[in-house]
Amino acid sequence: MGRHSLWGHDLQREMFRRALQRGRLGHAYLFSGPRGIGKKQFALLLAQSLLCEKRSAEGMNPCGECSGCRQVLTLTHPDLMLVGLPEGKSELPIETFVGSPDKRGREGLCHDLSLAPMHGGFRVAIIDDADCMNIASANALLKTLEEPGPRSVLVLITEDAEQVIRTIRSRCQQVNFGALADAELQAILKHNAAREGVEYPPERLEQALREAQGSVLRAEEWLTRMEQGGSGAASLSAVLSRPGFRVQDLASAADQLLNQYGSDTQGQRAGAHAILDCCREYCYRHLVRTASQPDVDPRIPDAWGDALELCLHAGIQNERRASVSLCLDAFYQELEIRLRPTWKNMGVRS
Ligand SMILES: [Zn+2]
Repeated sequence: MGRHSLWGHDLQREMFRRALQRGRLGHAYLFSGPRGIGKKQFALLLAQSLLCEKRSAEGMNPCGECSGCRQVLTLTHPDLMLVGLPEGKSELPIETFVGSPDKRGREGLCHDLSLAPMHGGFRVAIIDDADCMNIASANALLKTLEEPGPRSVLVLITEDAEQVIRTIRSRCQQVNFGALADAELQAILKHNAAREGVEYPPERLEQALREAQGSVLRAEEWLTRMEQGGSGAASLSAVLSRPGFRVQDLASAADQLLNQYGSDTQGQRAGAHAILDCCREYCYRHLVRTASQPDVDPRIPDAWGDALELCLHAGIQNERRASVSLCLDAFYQELEIRLRPTWKNMGVRS
């Protein structure tokens, strides 16, 4: 296992490097920024830097190979605690911080963080989803923040610092993280894909970058959706490429794609999302292609543009939780109408 794979966030890295070099690390930090950009990775890099057995004066430069570094990567280091929202829960429960009722104060993150480091270095606790702390959890953590254990470092992570209870927030040094640059994101996606033995076609990768808004997670979720919907998406594109296609052909090709998702509301909504993604990608491609063609009837790229706008609009409606089937039925009808002008020079009556 090599070094921590972390891209971007150079400013933040430099800030911590200097703090470590000068021995001026704070006790508590609040990391905020969009989902899926590497905040937790950064927190783990910091933990690794503190728990590396070959810790250098350089700071933020763990060796990646000693047992300390490896234990951080596998989340098994005895001086590292990582907590987050439990599966299916909407709050970080008090038990996470002070233990179950029969062991209150004798276990949990606050207790563990107060202990002396087992390996002589630091105790590091990372709290993901810090905005999901309820009042009881926050009060328990407040004590720890007011009287931090010796050589303990606490990192709270959230998408939105404003959502973290104020008394907690005010006791942490805030560090803001921004979206990743396209080049960084692309490097990460390629790296992760190579690790999985996958290779994406360049145009799909490009589209993923557009979808991702600088988030690795968003990009990978989108790529997975595309992989899963591959065959359904192919037949949907096949219908769209037939001038004069019938609305019911479009609907049944789309159903193929829809059926690859769960039948519950959430699954259907994800399926609708995939259908709309696929149509949007198709229209976008044709808009770009026809708009750059010389001597093209301007009504053709206009029609692709109208269709693209429709896809975007339907996507918003789908997210606003309108009825999935109503939304899709109306979408198919309207899409067929908007694409009619593109058939004209293909010998089809509209
Ligand atoms: Zn190391």
